[in-house]
Amino acid sequence: MQTVVHVLYMLASVLFIVGIKQMSAVKTARGANALSALAMGIAIVAAMLDIGLHGKIGWVYVGAGCVVGAAIGAGLAMKVTMEGMPELVAFFNGLGGLASSLVAVSMAVLTWSSAGGALRDGSVTSWDQVITVVLSIGVGGVTLTGSMIAWAKLKGIMSGKQIFLPAHNFVNLVLVVVTVGAGAAAFFVVDPKETTTLYALLGASVVSSFILGVTFAIPVGGADMPVVVSLLNSFSGVAAAMTGFVLYNNLLIISGSLVGAAGMILTIIMCRGMNRTLGNVLFAKFSQSGGKAEEYKNVKSGDPVDAAIALANASNVIVVPGYGMAAAQAQHALRELSDMLRDRGVTVRYAIHEVAGRMPGHMNVLLAEANVSYDDLFKREDIEADFKTADVVLVIGANDVVNPLALSDKASPLYGMPILPAHEAAQCFVVKRSLGAGFAGTKNVLFESDKTLMIYGSAKEVINRVVEELKAS
Ligand code: NDP
Repeated sequence: MQTVVHVLYMLASVLFIVGIKQMSAVKTARGANALSALAMGIAIVAAMLDIGLHGKIGWVYVGAGCVVGAAIGAGLAMKVTMEGMPELVAFFNGLGGLASSLVAVSMAVLTWSSAGGALRDGSVTSWDQVITVVLSIGVGGVTLTGSMIAWAKLKGIMSGKQIFLPAHNFVNLVLVVVTVGAGAAAFFVVDPKETTTLYALLGASVVSSFILGVTFAIPVGGADMPVVVSLLNSFSGVAAAMTGFVLYNNLLIISGSLVGAAGMILTIIMCRGMNRTLGNVLFAKFSQSGGKAEEYKNVKSGDPVDAAIALANASNVIVVPGYGMAAAQAQHALRELSDMLRDRGVTVRYAIHEVAGRMPGHMNVLLAEANVSYDDLFKREDIEADFKTADVVLVIGANDVVNPLALSDKASPLYGMPILPAHEAAQCFVVKRSLGAGFAGTKNVLFESDKTLMIYGSAKEVINRVVEELKAS
C-alpha cells in the first residue's frame, strides 16, 4: 500500500508540473486547470491512504475537513465574478499560509511531547527541522495576514491608500528578528517542565509573523495589490514547501516549489511590465498628481458615428483594451462590434499589454468570457510592429499602456515601460469618460495627437452606440 501511495504522489507531482506548464498559454490554460484539479484530487486520495496506513485518528476528521473545505471553495469560486478574482486568490493564498503555519506549530508541539520535552536533543530533531519549522511559521504567518490585507484593500473594505508607520522598515526588521529568533529559541527549550516557555516562544513567533504580514502589506497602494498578491502567492508556495520538509512529504515540497517559483516569475513579469522594481512597488511612496484635464491642449473629440464610419471603411483594425473596459464590463459589446466588422471583411485583432487592467491576464480572462477567440488575442511583443500599418486603432479604457511618454520622457513614472504604439496607426480613437489620468497618474500625449479622436463616455455605452450606427448603416 505504501508503494501505491508513493506512485500516486509521483503521478500527482507530474500532473502538477504539466498543468503549470500548460498554464503559460491561453489556449491550454483551461485544460491545465482541470489537470491540476485532477492532480489535487489524486494527492488527496494518496494522503488519505497514507493516513489510513499510519494513523490512529484518521479518516473521519481529515475527510470531514476535505468535504467542508471543498464545499466552501467551490461555493466561493462559483460565486466570484471575474472582477473579484484577485481578491479571491488573495483570500485562498492566506488560508494556504495559515495551513502551513498550523502544521509547523503542531509538528513542533508533537515532537516536543513525543520526545518527552526536548525539541532538540541531538537525536530527535536536527537543524533542518529547526529551519523548516521556523520558516514555515514565519512565511505562513506573513502570507496569512498580508493576504488578508490585500483582500480587504482589493474588496474596498480597507482604503487602498498607502499606510506607512514611523520607522516602517525598522519595525519590519524587528518583527523578522522576533519571528525567527523566538521560533528558533523554542527548539532550545530542553527542560520537560518548561511547557509554558515553549508555548510562549512559539506563540511569540506566530504573533510576530502575523504583525509582519500586516506591516508588509499596508504600505502598498490598492492598485499595486495584484503584484503583492502574486508575491504572497509565491510565499504561500514557499511555506507549503517548507511544510513538506517538516512532514517529509515530497509532493508538498514539489508542489510548493512550483507555486513559489511560478508566483515569483509572475511578480517579476508584472514589475518588468510596469518598468518598476519590486522594491519600488513594495516600499516607494507613490503620488498620482499629474494628468489633469487642464494640462492638455488641442485635444480633438468625436462621437460614436465618427468611429463607426472609420471602422466600417478600414481593412485592418487593432483594438487595445485596458482597465476601463473591465470597469465598464464592455467586453461583450466589443465582441459584438468585432463580429460585425469581420462580417464586413475587416481584420480585427486585440493587442494585449502584459499589465493592462489590474491583474495579470485581466484582459484575456474578460475577453475569453465574452467568447472572443484566443486566436484574435495578440501579446504586445507579437503585434507592436503592426501598429504602423493599422488603419484604425480603437483604445477602449486603456491609458498608461498606450502612453508614448513612456518612450521619451525620462521624468515620467512610466519611462521605460514598453507600450502598445497606438500613436503610430493612421487613425486612433480613444474611448474613455474624460481626460482623467490612468493608474500612473500622468499626462498621456496620445490624446493630443493629430491622429487621435477622443470619444467620451463609458466604454460599454460608447461601443453599443457604435454597434447601433453600424447596424443602421
Ligand atoms: P489605466 O489605469 O492606465 O487607465 C484606465 C483608464 O480607464 C482611465 O484613464 C479611465 O479614464 C478609464 N476608465 C475608467 N472607467 C472607465 C469606463 N467605465 N469606461 C471607459 N473608460 C474608463 O489602465 P491601463 O489598462 O492602460 O493600464 C494599467 C495600469 O495599471 C498600468 O499603469 C499598470 O502598470 C497598472 N497595474 C497593472 C497591474 C496588472 O497586473 N495588470 C497590476 C497593478 C498595476 P476615465 O476616468 O477618463 O474614464
